[in-house]
Amino acid sequence: MYSLQNISVSYGTTIALRPVSMEVEPGKTLVLIGPSGSGKSTLLRVMAGLVTPEGVLAFGGAPVTDWQRVRRRIGYVIQDGGLFPHLTARENILLMSRELGLDNAARVEELAALTHLQQDQLDRYPAELSGGQRQRVGIVRALMLDPDVLLLDEPLSALDPVIRAGLADELKNIIGTLKKTAVLVTHSLSEARFFSDRLVLMRGGAVVQEGSYADFEARPADPFVTEFIDAERKL
Ligand code: ADP
Ligand code: MG
Repeated sequence: MYSLQNISVSYGTTIALRPVSMEVEPGKTLVLIGPSGSGKSTLLRVMAGLVTPEGVLAFGGAPVTDWQRVRRRIGYVIQDGGLFPHLTARENILLMSRELGLDNAARVEELAALTHLQQDQLDRYPAELSGGQRQRVGIVRALMLDPDVLLLDEPLSALDPVIRAGLADELKNIIGTLKKTAVLVTHSLSEARFFSDRLVLMRGGAVVQEGSYADFEARPADPFVTEFIDAERKL
């Protein structure tokens, strides 16, 4: 789905991403994991077309030349939903459809049912919803234009454990049912194991190891891999 060749990003003298090359396979879930500041969000923002990197980024087999077109095939979800506070949930969800002149009222109902959002919740403002409900709205909004890819930046991090576990199940189910390609960012190893077909562990803007969790355990590419796994296990 994506092919990245020597993708790097700098902000002034800060190197957010060192040259990274990777493939994102269609229909699979890739999880980017690593400590805070390791470049996970930057890499996801590159895939969302929100940050222009050095290097070559291909989407669907061809280098991206027209982000306008590609962006419609990508759903982007951030922590706590990233909703506009002055619009109701429904207005947030329908924003892009309105912009494009699409009548997607029926699709809202379908996706609301899939994410267990109730009618009265759709007509509330973000501040009148719980964290879990806001995140559901963010997910519905991202799915409205039926994207090929879902990019999720710590979608569950702002939630309490019970809500988080429930929404994790639902999200995995949605990704599977709708057969989406997904790239999910997290700093939680348990979340990474739960969602991933493949894991990419990052540190300092670079990829430390790529593979399955079993690979990380059996064949750590660097002492940091073991250190990261052990630190999480302790909790
Ligand atoms: P992560 O998501 O893994 O926590 P980020 O990708 O957000 O990491 O950040 C990687 C590095 O790039 C950090 O050092 C961060 O401070 C820096 N960074 C990210 N975005 C910006 C920005 N817009 N301006 C300057 N520095 C940034
Ligand atoms: Mg981040």
